[in-house]
Amino acid sequence: MRIDIITIFPDFFQNIITHSIISKAIKKEKVNVNIHDLRNYSNNKQKSVDDYQFGGGSGMVMTIQPIDNIISKLKDERIYDEIIYLSADGECLNQQISNKLSTHKNLIILCGHYKGVDQRIRDLHITKEISIGDYVLTGGILPAAILMDSIVRIIPGVLSDETSALTDSYQDNLLEAPVYTRPSNYKGMKVPSVLLSGDQKLIAKWKDEQSFKKTKKNRPDLLK
Ligand code: SAM
Repeated sequence: MRIDIITIFPDFFQNIITHSIISKAIKKEKVNVNIHDLRNYSNNKQKSVDDYQFGGGSGMVMTIQPIDNIISKLKDERIYDEIIYLSADGECLNQQISNKLSTHKNLIILCGHYKGVDQRIRDLHITKEISIGDYVLTGGILPAAILMDSIVRIIPGVLSDETSALTDSYQDNLLEAPVYTRPSNYKGMKVPSVLLSGDQKLIAKWKDEQSFKKTKKNRPDLLK
């Protein structure tokens, strides 16, 4: 998979692509991440990428020209499956969206800032608008990092134990059952005995029950 990230904070992504699961995926050649500094595409002498809102109102808006330049350039080079704008008013990210995006070949992720981008960019180039939750952050860099992690970790071959991701919460609309490790008894707090029984059928049944119980308690909406 190839991911192109468009941002005014390219340095933020350096740590992410040299550490974390993303760096592992890059080393394994499962993903190729390209960071583009939006200011390099501004025709403006000052390399500015924002301007005042038409009609008044507080806050600057990201201008159309630099974003159109970089997206048009990338689109001339290859076909993109999705051109994503991270936006507080977009569709709320969930596991199903990440699963689908993880099967694609080429993605562009546009990070907004200030009041967001000129609407004409959204009309012209954006094929998918994703929010990471019902709250507003200062910019799209953290949402982009979250989106990228959720996509890349489920690409086959990225995690050392692929089945681990498949048994995580939300994959089957249920939350994951509680997990335990050694010691089996810590200050009198014992691990459920079924997990030490070695009976895989019984363990699977216990996990299913716990998973259902937790989902009913914490996220009953998922059971509908
Ligand atoms: N004026 C916008 C609104 O009311 O919806 C909020 C703009 S926000 C301050 C600046 C940028 O941060 C957005 O363009 C977007 O890229 C990013 N952003 C903020 N909250 C987000 C969220 N919940 N999900 C995804 N991106 C978000």
